[in-house]
Amino acid sequence: MSGIEGDLRKHIETLFPICRSITGQGLRDTLRYIAGQIPLTMHEVPSGTPVLDWEIPKEWIVRGAVIRSLDGRTVVDFADNNLHLLQYSIPLDRVVSRSELDRHLHSLPEQPEVIPYRTAYYADTWGFCLSHSDRLAMTDAAYRVTIDTSLVPGSLSYGECALHGQEPGEFLLSVHCCHPSLANDNLSAIAVAIELARTLQQRPARRWTYRFLFIPGTIGAIAWLAANRDAARRVSHGLVLSCLGDPAPPTYKRSRRGDAPIDRYASHVLSEAGHGDRVLGFVPYGYDERQYCSPGFDLPVGCLMRSPNGTFPEYHTSADNLSFVRGDAMTDSLATLLRIIDLAEADASWINTCPYGEPQLGRRGLYSKIGGASDGGGSRFDTLTLLWVLNLCDGRHTLLDIAEHAAKPFSAVAAAARALHEAGLLRPERPGPELLRPDASAVTAAARDESPVP
Ligand code: ZN
Repeated sequence: MSGIEGDLRKHIETLFPICRSITGQGLRDTLRYIAGQIPLTMHEVPSGTPVLDWEIPKEWIVRGAVIRSLDGRTVVDFADNNLHLLQYSIPLDRVVSRSELDRHLHSLPEQPEVIPYRTAYYADTWGFCLSHSDRLAMTDAAYRVTIDTSLVPGSLSYGECALHGQEPGEFLLSVHCCHPSLANDNLSAIAVAIELARTLQQRPARRWTYRFLFIPGTIGAIAWLAANRDAARRVSHGLVLSCLGDPAPPTYKRSRRGDAPIDRYASHVLSEAGHGDRVLGFVPYGYDERQYCSPGFDLPVGCLMRSPNGTFPEYHTSADNLSFVRGDAMTDSLATLLRIIDLAEADASWINTCPYGEPQLGRRGLYSKIGGASDGGGSRFDTLTLLWVLNLCDGRHTLLDIAEHAAKPFSAVAAAARALHEAGLLRPERPGPELLRPDASAVTAAARDESPVP
């Protein structure tokens, strides 16, 4: 097991037993753990605070929950598995008939051995989740139900880690951390985000500010957006991260815009890895992209996953456990994210300083850098790539536009641009975020419509 794989595994193993919810001590303990790994600012938003069209709920405190037979035998116990209790269950302590109890039980007849994960955040109710086989074995006329919980004015917690960059734009990375003992959804993404932040911390010259949000799903994103109404002006790129540890290849779900730079970057990286068929269109369902891509904000935020939510049998059940999540899948997710980020960092417009006729390449030692030679950044390029970069560096094309138009790997185009820059044949056109926004994509779309490169 590589060092990074061991670190990723350690994060999910440490966090797995904690009973998280959208508020409460489990969420706070999770954020404290993350704060021990990366610089994290903790926020507490008081219960009752209006946030956009919502309100911060009461804090849920859970001490235990048990169903016992009337002769005192334990039948279902929250202490055995925190999925057993319907999240946000109200307190209860009384004898309940089997038929009444049945209306409060949740199981999966088609998967009789697993415990489902269910929530009732905004409903005044209680319930238990159990395997269907255990439910069928409950044949007594009545049971004693004890739910030791409280719903009290408290706060909603979330964590924010900002790694500042040189340009005003921001790259938002949003991770929900409100699920109890479920490993893929979403401890895998918490673990990958921690290691991504650590990796980016080591890079001294970051172009973008990387803002990591560790938030409870839906209400946390809404609370953050309510406090950051100007986010639309800052967020140049964004990704919601979820389910990054299962064995499936990566999946990217486009932002509502569909053709934002992040959509192009993620699609390009997945296509290069042979997973172009796993780029999905935007749907107003899923994770917190629903909030970031609500029409009033319409942020360029897509979603990176492996298996999409609801498409794998382990989803939201006790089978989404530590043995379901794979270290090599989390490592691959981290590498995929870094490739997307490398693209976002390097994609820019450059200007050919010698655009009248072709410049003499041999005189500047450029032919020696072509072919087998590496440019020092670890990437190679051929003569045609160099010529494409010279030809299209007119301020109207970014390096990704050139890579797509010339059907060359982005890394080769970026390496050719570095070599040309070192030779004095390219100068940066300070891109500013506006050159990376949809009008730049429109130029590319037009360029792509032209006849293919031979
Ligand atoms: Zn979920």
